This record gives sequence, C-alpha cells and structure tokens, in this order.
Amino acid sequence: MTNAQLYLSTNDFIAGIKAVASRFDTASYPQQNLPADDWTLLTRAGVLLPTLPREYGGRDSHVEMCRVVEAISEYNLPLGMYVTVITGVALRPIALWASDEAKREVLPQYAGGDPMVAGFASTEPGCGSAMSGMTTTFEEAGDGFRIRGRKHWQAFSSSAHWWLVSAKNDDRGREYGYFIVKRSEGFRTLQPYEPLGLKVIDYGLNEIDAVVPRHRRIQADGRNLKPMVEMLMASRAMMAAMGCGFLRRLSREAHAYADRRRIGPGPQSAIRFVRYRLAAIDTSYTICAALNDFLQTELDMKSDMLGAFPAVQAIKTVATERMLSAAHHYQQLAGGEGYRCGSPTNISAQAFLDARVYTIFDGTNDLLSQQLTEYCLARTDGLPLSKFLAEWPLTASAITAQGLDLGFLDRDLRQEHLVLAGRAIGYAFAIGQVMRWAGRPGADAGRARAAIEFLKADIAGVATEFGLLSSGVLGIEDGAVPPPAGARFSRSVPVPATAPAEA
Ligand SMILES: Cc1cc2nc3c(=O)[nH]c(=O)nc-3n(C[C@H](O)[C@H](O)[C@H](O)COP(=O)(O)OP(=O)(O)OC[C@H]3O[C@@H](n4cnc5c(N)ncnc54)[C@H](O)[C@@H]3O)c2cc1C
Repeated sequence: MTNAQLYLSTNDFIAGIKAVASRFDTASYPQQNLPADDWTLLTRAGVLLPTLPREYGGRDSHVEMCRVVEAISEYNLPLGMYVTVITGVALRPIALWASDEAKREVLPQYAGGDPMVAGFASTEPGCGSAMSGMTTTFEEAGDGFRIRGRKHWQAFSSSAHWWLVSAKNDDRGREYGYFIVKRSEGFRTLQPYEPLGLKVIDYGLNEIDAVVPRHRRIQADGRNLKPMVEMLMASRAMMAAMGCGFLRRLSREAHAYADRRRIGPGPQSAIRFVRYRLAAIDTSYTICAALNDFLQTELDMKSDMLGAFPAVQAIKTVATERMLSAAHHYQQLAGGEGYRCGSPTNISAQAFLDARVYTIFDGTNDLLSQQLTEYCLARTDGLPLSKFLAEWPLTASAITAQGLDLGFLDRDLRQEHLVLAGRAIGYAFAIGQVMRWAGRPGADAGRARAAIEFLKADIAGVATEFGLLSSGVLGIEDGAVPPPAGARFSRSVPVPATAPAEA
C-alpha cells in the first residue's frame, strides 16, 4: 500500500484493481477459500480504500465502492461478494455509525494493505427472515456488554478478525443492539458449512460469548429493526454492481460459446431458439447495467440509505433474479459441458452455482418483494395501488411511457399477492431505470427496447399468477396462517408516521 494510491484518479485506481482481479478469473482460479496471501494482493491494490473515510486512510468514494465490486465480479462473482461483505456490510456501518473511539480502533487496520477480514453476524439457525425471533442477547457487564448466542451462515465465519453482531435485550421491553466484536473476545466457529458455490468464502455455525467495551456499541435506535435494515441496504444495492460485472461476462461468453459450438450444419448461434436465449441473457445484462447506473448516480452508500428503501428492495430482487435466470440460460446453452466441473469450454456450471444463492441471502427475495408492496400500501393515502404507482416517482415514468396496466393490483392483497405485487413493482421500477439508462450517451436503444419488453412480459406473468391464485384450484388456503389482527406491515418496513399499525 502506498500513499500515492490515495491520490490516483478513479480510472487509474480501477485499472489497478482490474489488473490484480484478472489473476482470480473464475475459469482458472481454484474453487477454494481465498488464502490470506491472495487477499493481500487485493487489499494492496486498494479494494477496501473507497469504503474508508480519508481520515482513516481511505479514498472515501461511493462510486469507487461500486466500480471495484463491478470490476471484480466480471472476473470472479464470489470475489465480488467477498469484497461487498467486508466493505458494504461490515465496515460501512462502522464508518458511518460507530463511535470515534471504535473507528480509531478498527478502521486503520483495514487501510494498510494487510489481509484483514470483517463480517456481519445476524442470521441464526432459528431465524433469518423474521429477525425479531433472534435469540442472541446482550446485557450490561461492568463497563461494557456481554453478548451471547449462536449465529450461522456468516461469510468469513472462521476467518474474520472483526464482527458486527446483532443482539437483543428483553429486560425492559424489547431492545436491539449492534456491537463490534473482536474475534478473540469470544467468537468461535463450531462447525464449518460447505456451500454449493461462493467457494472463496468460508461459512459456518458460530457461537458468541463475548464481553465488549461500551464504546463498541453502534449508535442506533434499539426499538425496532430499522437500523439492521439500513445496515443491509448497501449490500442489497450492490447486487446491481455485481450483476452488471457478472452478466457482462456471461453475455460475452455465451455468445462466444454459441458461435464456436457446431450443431448440425452450422453454429449453435444460428438456431433461432438459441438466439432467443442469448437475447434473454443480453437483456438481463442491460437491466443490471441500468440498475447499476442508478446505484452509482442516485444512491449514496456514504450516508443513511433508509430513504432509498423501496429502490434498494427493487434493485436487489430484480438484479438477483436476472443473474440467476441468465446463468440458467447460459448453462442450458452449454449442454452437457455446462454440467461439468472445471469444463475447459465454459464457466456456466460454476456461474449457476454461484448465482443461485443471490435470490436467497441478504434478505430472501420473497420477503423483500412483500416488504416493497407494504411500503407502497402504507403511502397510498386511500388511492388504489395502481393509481398510487402511476404517480409515484419510482414507477410513474415507466407506467406512463409504456402504458403499463397494473389494475390487477387493485384488490384485497393477501400475503401471496403482496409478494407477487412486489415483483411487479420491482419490474416497473426497472423499466424506468432502463428508460433512463437508454438516454445516456452511447446507450444502445435496441438493447433498451428488448429489456423493457422482457420486463413487461414479467409484469404480465405476475398478472397471470394473480389469475391462477383466484382460480381457487391451488388449495393454498388450507393451513395458511392469517395475519395478526389490526397489523398491516412488517416491522422492518419504514412506514410514514400516519400509517396503520405494524405487525
Ligand atoms: C451463502 C450464504 C451467505 C450468507 N451470508 C450471511 C452473512 O454474512 N451474515 C448473516 O448474518 N447471514 C448470512 N446468510 C444468511 C441469509 O441472509 C439467510 O439465509 C436469509 O436471510 C434467509 O434466511 P433463512 O435461511 O433463515 O431462511 P428462512 O427465513 O427460513 O426462509 C426460507 C424461505 O421461506 C420463504 N419465505 C420466508 N419468508 C417469506 C415471506 N414473507 N414471503 C414468502 N416466502 C417467504 C422463502 O421462500 C425463503 O427463501 C447467508 C446465507 C447464505 C446461504
């Protein structure tokens, strides 16, 4: 790490990151936990610097945080997640919300090019989606806090030096707390987990019994889980950057594969349905490029992101769905070679395994879609949902310009409808972003048109699913739990002060 690195232009800085990232290409890099020496190559190239404030030795740049992850994900998607967890999930809340004393203690350790790792511990064996069910507790202990409990599926379970841990206290009514814990203070990995993909990252079941000094409690409202939602927003938004880098590569490689592969008299790429699959991959890339443009220009990971809640929910769900669907198309095109570990002709098997978890982790897409609908319902002010969306800044331009008919949303929305409606809202948001992206210099109007048509087909698909649910043949009523009386919104959805009660 040199001081000069702090003064490079953004383009030169990113070029340096790309030069190092190319050594980690998925096609050749082993499917193994990242050794510390390899992480050192990346930290010395400065991958952590954009996250760190200048006073702690960083470059302090939102755009560079996005561009670093986009660049790395093109070479190696799991490595893009590796960097995202350390920067967007673990260090960002410390840089934004921790006390000066805690920042001085932790952040400089990540500025010097050492192979330092940090993780975020929230999920527990008994709860992931409904975090109010957490069992990890904190209590006053001398001049600090004692934290006890079990967490699982944490990225860097066995390797992180520092942790951000969520816990609860029920002594005087429910209170949530977030603590910065040094591994040696009492964070133990009881059992390693073997994930299907993302092999560069180590996972496991962890036990915490740690006493931390008072200054390591993050300043956050303890009455609800909104601070945790805020802490997860950067990584959810960064799915657009990861998706953009990953799908740029998949689009390029799927076309090259289909041009090379001979099927019958000609190349595979001459088959009309193959061309349809390639177009589907390309449109997914376009959609992620547009969402990434929104992330870089309209969001700011350097400040409180709760105001961007609906946009981030839409980005996370749409981008990750697109990553998975494009990886699926690519794997199908690669035929038997796409089911082969370490195939010399393509990376599609690994790409699919790596992309698979994106719709599950960081908040499962089904829950996030439900919350997006709830966010909107809390603001309709008596309007039918479709009318609200026609005026809402995040969807209005798409609905007007594309003549979208979302009237099927105007009905009593049960839980299953809330999830599906959230998807439709996410697609409408994405159409607006593709339209916006199409206006950028150099953007390809034909690509934008195709992406918009795919998204409109997705909305039509949701409308069809509403019809399917109404047919009554699915029998999903049997055994379904009714919502709690008088409660309309999940606790983690930011609702206006005048909205009806939360669940
Ligand atoms: C590879 C990987 C990395 C991870 N990294 C971390 C990490 O670094 N730190 C951390 O703390 N955690 C991490 N996690 C945990 C992850 O965030 C959780 O797995 C995720 O939030 C889902 O929680 P769960 O596994 O308990 O699933 P559950 O809550 O049991 O949900 C399972 C499924 O139930 C359905 N479901 C749940 N709620 C709803 C709803 N409201 N509507 C419709 N369907 C619903 C969905 O189909 C959902 O996918 C990671 C997980 C994986 C697999």
